[in-house]
Amino acid sequence: MKVKMSKKIPTNPYRTDLARIFRYFTMFIFFALFLQTIRKMNLLAIESSCDETSAAVMVDGVLKSNVISTQLIHTEWGGVVPELASREHQKAIIPVVTEALQKANINKNELNAIAFTRGPGLLGALLVGTSFAKSLSLALNIPLIEVNHMQAHVLAHFIEDPKPQFPFLCLTVSGGHTQLVWVKDALHMEVIGETQDDAVGEAFDKTAKLIGLPYPGGPLIDKLAKEGNPDRFPFSLGEMPGLNFSFSGIKTQILYFLQKETQKNPQFVEENKADICASVQKSLIDMLLRKVKKAMREKSCKQIAIAGGVSANSGLRSRLSEMGEKEGWDVFIPAFQYCTDNAGMIAMAGHFKYEAGEFTNQDVTPLARYNL
Ligand code: ADP
Ligand code: MG
Repeated sequence: MKVKMSKKIPTNPYRTDLARIFRYFTMFIFFALFLQTIRKMNLLAIESSCDETSAAVMVDGVLKSNVISTQLIHTEWGGVVPELASREHQKAIIPVVTEALQKANINKNELNAIAFTRGPGLLGALLVGTSFAKSLSLALNIPLIEVNHMQAHVLAHFIEDPKPQFPFLCLTVSGGHTQLVWVKDALHMEVIGETQDDAVGEAFDKTAKLIGLPYPGGPLIDKLAKEGNPDRFPFSLGEMPGLNFSFSGIKTQILYFLQKETQKNPQFVEENKADICASVQKSLIDMLLRKVKKAMREKSCKQIAIAGGVSANSGLRSRLSEMGEKEGWDVFIPAFQYCTDNAGMIAMAGHFKYEAGEFTNQDVTPLARYNL
């Protein structure tokens, strides 16, 4: 009997090995891609543009720590002394960064990127944060991200809910700036109006100085204004063309008014402090809101945000909310800790830039002036 044998095809040992290697290789690639998607992005941010040394840690866009050290030394001088600010930053930067990392429970070797304020601000102060960020990025071999401080003030709105939708209008008011910013998206903003002389924060601080309040006087004016009559001393608001602002006129007006009244009654300031604060605050807010209304109409916009140190002012917050209700706008007001200078907002801006792949190299230098 003849048995028919099936013909066995000889296997090529090299071929099976290759197939196996290819299979493992594909699995490895998929695993690496998977790890990449679940890997956390740990970002350290540093702010040193003026008189706050601050460091923050953000993980995948979520703020984990935001340490702020405010320099008290300037109170003695009635304003920020640039050289003293630089020295204070040098003293504070290592403890502040260390505390931010500890609070976030992150080791410096786990960091994936470093964001820092490149400007605008005091050159010597910016130099401290910039040099520190550059050195750490070099030592850890991780990317460096430069941040515009004014852009970061606007992006502070994205740290917590509710967040505005793009595009929206933002009134940025601080000790050094007064701007109406048209925010197209996180990284594209246009200044459509700004002060031609002093910033509104400066007007608050200088008025405070005239009535004997310590620096920074803005928060103290706010506090006293709550007990005063805002209509007691009316000041003329002046008129600037378009969407620009000017605060030097009202500042001089307040100075002459106080000089005239104290000549008649040397106790005038002491006897009328709360009413002076309430009247000055009302006038400054009127000047801001007048332009906000105009800009919102021009842009047919329904969302308004405020940012910067002066956005902590209770009068501005409540009057903008009232105006928003009347006009049918959504009003976005940041939490107090994100109004004045802080590294949390630098981290938020850094996060957007990291996602967009916008990095800086080691040649970067700070900029005292830095347009949006
Ligand atoms: P800069 O970035 O220019 O240093 P910040 O954003 O830190 O300014 O804001 C500081 C300014 O904000 C100061 O002029 C301070 O007086 C002002 N400011 C802070 N809180 C208030 C408040 N409640 N009312 C008015 N002004 C305030
Ligand atoms: Mg600021």
